[in-house]
Formats: sequence, structure tokens, C-alpha cells
Amino acid sequence: MKLFNWYFKSNLLLRIMLGLICGAVGGLVLGEEISWVSPFGDIFVRLLKMIVMPVVMFTLIVGAASVHPARLGRVGVKALGIYMVTTGFAVGLGLLFGNIFKPGRGLDLTGAGGEVAKTTLETPSLLDTVINIVPVNPFNAITSGEILPTIFFCLMFGIGIAFLRESEDQRIKHAATTVFHFFEGGAEIMYLVVHWILQYAPIGVFALIAVVFGTQGAEAFGPLGITTLAVYLAFLAHMFLVYGAGLAIFGLSPIKFFAKAKQAIVTGFVTRSSGGTLPVSMEVAEEEMGISKGVYSFSLPLGATINMDGTAIYQGVCAIFIGFAIGAPLSFEQQMTVIATAVLASIGTAGVPGAGALMLMMVLNSVGLQVEPGTTVAMAYAMIFGIDALLDMGRTACNITGDLAITCIVGKTEQEMDVSKWRS
Ligand code: ASP
Repeated sequence: MKLFNWYFKSNLLLRIMLGLICGAVGGLVLGEEISWVSPFGDIFVRLLKMIVMPVVMFTLIVGAASVHPARLGRVGVKALGIYMVTTGFAVGLGLLFGNIFKPGRGLDLTGAGGEVAKTTLETPSLLDTVINIVPVNPFNAITSGEILPTIFFCLMFGIGIAFLRESEDQRIKHAATTVFHFFEGGAEIMYLVVHWILQYAPIGVFALIAVVFGTQGAEAFGPLGITTLAVYLAFLAHMFLVYGAGLAIFGLSPIKFFAKAKQAIVTGFVTRSSGGTLPVSMEVAEEEMGISKGVYSFSLPLGATINMDGTAIYQGVCAIFIGFAIGAPLSFEQQMTVIATAVLASIGTAGVPGAGALMLMMVLNSVGLQVEPGTTVAMAYAMIFGIDALLDMGRTACNITGDLAITCIVGKTEQEMDVSKWRS
């Protein structure tokens, strides 16, 4: 009973880390005998898969429906455009660092008892991936877990709600508002269910990691360390080179920017939630950066919902890790597909802790790597999941930096910024 109380009251991150450590130690000590725990890991993988489509659907519809249509004008298009471009750079950078560091190389999970995943043969081409973004049957796309067509449809649906909520016709306005509240409620419920699933995460992570270490021995540590290093270096490169250069091009000092943004960046790092950091980013945008409310009140919430450069980088590096770990490194074409999917998947990522790890499954799916219980892909995925808290801190900090940097650029170019705040 005491154990039970402790389990639900203690810090979740701590428990997941503990699950990871115990799994690694258990696997190292008991070797292959530990494999009987693998069903506990399978249940965890199934729980995650269960929740991903509903979370994406509700989050996106509510996100898109919350944007005031009048704001979708110049500032909207500009912010949206720059958000997309930087995210493209981000995945590219993630893949570059992944290719340089080759995380996961040397791990051979095929020996870990998992079935070899079906890979490359079924990979759709890049052009097909782009065309297939438009679903012929959105309901089919949702039920069969096709993420990109689902994102496409949900965005349209959400924007439709946003327009009708402002309708002159009271009847239509009322109806659209009701639909909005329905999805808003749905999104809140899904976050709660995710919270519950995460309570099981320590056990799931324990089981999955134990099986990996039971068969791989201590060799599994190195690849995880390299992955973390590659991901963090890519975050830093993106923050300083891409955002730094962008700010400098528009006449804003990157050094001053980081000095002003630090409070929001640190908040993102510790809370691991773009959504949760929003109040701090807004305060920073107003007080420290002198950006007008008309710009930041739109572009920061939009950024916290759809602009996830850190998440995109992480997905790039991790896709490469998983390719190596299962002994089927990603081909050039697969990597191009990862760029396209990761850009869209990062849009569909909710600004809450751990959301990026769920979306990673979708990115893997797009290159024919299915996270099915009992496969090597699921094992490799679990290794990444085990250190997700660590990776999530960096990627959220990077996400926040991007939201603020781009808001600064939009504010400056629209002359909606008090530049005197940047002089001293
Ligand atoms: N935690 C991240 C954020 O809120 C999302 C993610 O998990 O990648 O920005």
C-alpha cells in the first residue's frame, strides 16, 4: 500500500528515469532471462498508439479554430511562412547531425528477439507523400492512423470553425461555437488520458529497456549518449545559426535577443511545455522586446501550437537512430520523406511535455517503420522514449526560442516594435 502511494505521489520524471535505470540494471544482471517482462512493454506501446490520433485530431482542430480569422491576414501569413521555413531547416539540421554522428550504429536489435521490421520496400516516394496529404476520405485517414491527411483535414475543419464562429448569422455562430466547445472539451479529456498513460510509463519503459539491455548488454549505453549529444548540438546550432542569422539579417542583435529571451527559454527547458511557457514568452515579448500586442498576441500562441523546431530536429536525429539501431539505415529518399513528414508532424505536436515522442511514431510510419509491439523498431523507439525527458527539455527550449525569434522578426519588419528597447 505504501509503495502504491509512493508510486502515484512521487515525481513522474523521477519514476521514468528510475524505470529506465532499473530496466537497464535488471537487463544487464539477468540477461535474456528478463524477456518475460516484455508484455508489459507491449502494453505501453499499445497505449501510446491508442492515444496519438485522438490527441492530434482534437489539438489541431482546437488550435486552428482558436485563430481569429481577421488575424489570418498579413501578420498571420508572414509568421506562418517563416515558421514553416525555419522548421524545414530544423529537420534538415537534425538529419545532418544524425548523419554525422550516426547514433544507433553498432546496436543490433535484430539479435534482441524482436522480429525484423518490414522496412524500405514499402516506403512511399516523396511525391506520393506530398500528394497523399490530401485525403480522399478523411474518416478513413483518421481510422487508419494516416497522420498527414488527418492534419490536413483537421486544419481545414478548424479554420472553418474559426470563420463560422464570427458569422453574422446568430444561428450559425451559435452552432459553430457549440462544435468548438465540443472539441475543446475533447482536447482537455485527451490530455488527461495522456496523463494517465504516463503514470504507466515507468513500468513500460522498465520492461522495454530491460529487454534491450538483457540482450545487448552494456553496449546499448553508448548509442543513447551519442543520440543525446547529436540532438543537443543540433538544437544549439539551430538556435545560434538559424535564428541568430535571421535576427541579424533584420538588424536585431542576436546577443541582445538571447539576453532578453533567457527567462522564457529557461522556463521552456524546465516545464517542457510550449503551451505552459506562453505567459512567460508573452511577458518577455512585451516588456523586454517591445513588440506590439497585435503581433505577439497572435504569433506567440500560434508558434506554441505549430512551430516546433526543436521537435523537428529531434525527429530527424531519432529517425536516423532508429534506422541504424534496426540495421536498416535510412536511404536518401527516406530522409527526404522524413523532412516532409517531420515538418507537418511538428505542426500537429501539442505544446505539452512528451508530445513530440508520440509524433515520432508518425514520422517513422511515413518511411515504412511501424512501431508494432515485439518488433525491433519498437525496441529502438523505447530506448529513445526512456531518455525522452532529457531530450524534451532541450527541444522545448528550442521551440520557445523559435517562437520568440520569429515574433521579433515579424514585429520589426511590420514596424510593430519599440526599437528603443534594443538600443541600450
Ligand atoms: N514538449 C514540447 C513543447 O511543448 C513538444 C514536444 O514534446 O516535442 O514544445
